[in-house]
Amino acid sequence: MIYTDTRDGSVKVDFKTAVMNGMNQATGGLYIPTSFPKLDKALINKDPEPSFRVIAFEMAKPYVEGEIPDADLSEIIADAYPFSPKVVPLDSISYSLELFHGPTCAFKDFGARFMARVMSYFNRNESTPLHILVATSGDTGSAVGSAFHNVPGLDVTILYPDGKISPLQEKQLSTFTGNVRALKVKGTFDDCQKLVKTAFTDTELRGKLRLSSANSINISRLLPQSFYYMYSSLVVRNRSAIDNKIQDPAIITIVPSGNFGNLTSGLIAKEMGAPITGFVAATNTNRTIPDWIATGSYDARPSVETYANAMDVGAPSNYERIKAMYTLEQVRQLFASYWLDNDGIMEAIRACNNKTGYIIDPHGAIGWKAWEDIKNGAMEALANGNKNDYTKPGLTPNLPAWASKVIDKKAVGMILETASPAKFGSIVTDAIGKEPPMPSRLEEVLHLPDRAIPMENDYNTFKDWLLANL
Ligand SMILES: *Cc1c(COP(=O)(O)O)cnc(C)c1O
Repeated sequence: MIYTDTRDGSVKVDFKTAVMNGMNQATGGLYIPTSFPKLDKALINKDPEPSFRVIAFEMAKPYVEGEIPDADLSEIIADAYPFSPKVVPLDSISYSLELFHGPTCAFKDFGARFMARVMSYFNRNESTPLHILVATSGDTGSAVGSAFHNVPGLDVTILYPDGKISPLQEKQLSTFTGNVRALKVKGTFDDCQKLVKTAFTDTELRGKLRLSSANSINISRLLPQSFYYMYSSLVVRNRSAIDNKIQDPAIITIVPSGNFGNLTSGLIAKEMGAPITGFVAATNTNRTIPDWIATGSYDARPSVETYANAMDVGAPSNYERIKAMYTLEQVRQLFASYWLDNDGIMEAIRACNNKTGYIIDPHGAIGWKAWEDIKNGAMEALANGNKNDYTKPGLTPNLPAWASKVIDKKAVGMILETASPAKFGSIVTDAIGKEPPMPSRLEEVLHLPDRAIPMENDYNTFKDWLLANL
């Protein structure tokens, strides 16, 4: 596969270059495949559907062709995914796609684990380790730390702001041993990011250590997220004949979004032939994308804190990829967009539990409420010209091409549940008056000793530490 760049279509690189560079330093653009090959129809039409790992292998294949042989790719997939996504029905036309059955209980495990194994593969003939530096405000660090833990040839240093992440998140970051360690920086997330960025531009340091990043713009984190969209849309299509008797339903996929990497992966799956009809971009008060869809003007802004804090992003990095793939008019046909404030999030967690018995996390809750409104008449109201004010919580005023499918009751909704509710236990408990069940792997992490290393917010101290310890 040839990869190009969102800012310069004349750029042509291979997969290895795209993965190891992360982004194109020369243009500031993001790498993107030049085509999205269709998955074999025979595989898509199977009932029962193929296993998640079979789909993952077949979808990954064209993107690594000529660079990773089938036998090695197969090993990477098997090692990355000892767990699977799960489709759970909430009512006859609504499904939760649970993406939290990996080690850190959030969907980022799918992308980070594939990326770690691909980087290790590309580093296999080097005599020195590749040092990954990552600044985190919470969830990314644990997914990356866990994904790279004990992966050969790789070494990870996580920087996080001391006292500014939740106690559970801190435990998930700071209890690794061996090739993964965490530095608790006396500063903010922005300070952590600045230390990492300064290290990347420090030629003296780079002469001594091979450095790389692992952030969410990396194409090797984006591609594997498309695997679960394909798999789950086949599960939902095959189940629908029994659950709701709708033949070939229009599958509407509702995606809680921050940097919009997850949603971009869904677009890739659709391009590759997944039976997905449309998307709902669901978010919190950080409504940069809903505002863009509503008004046509893209206005990045500082992020604000919300209960769905993994989506507290004011300048979503994958906007650039969505823009490279589709025009605004195409986006308006393909997506509905929806946002909720904190009160709406609490109310949604409660309403979901009251109506379905399901305990949902604050991110998934926005998705659930979006679909609840859509299936209960919001799309019909929109089609009749009753447009919601986009500055108020709810749907944006564009009418997607699939609205008629919802109105004619030919659609089902698949809500991506991006994290286990136990990761946001206190918010969920406040909303529903009972604690969500704690998965044993989170419980275990709570009892491990904290190994975080205190770090001054000072570049030279940080650099000296790296040189002395890595
Ligand atoms: C990271 C994250 C998101 C947002 O995903 P993007 O790909 O950045 O849009 C949503 N929910 C949870 C729980 C997350 O950790």
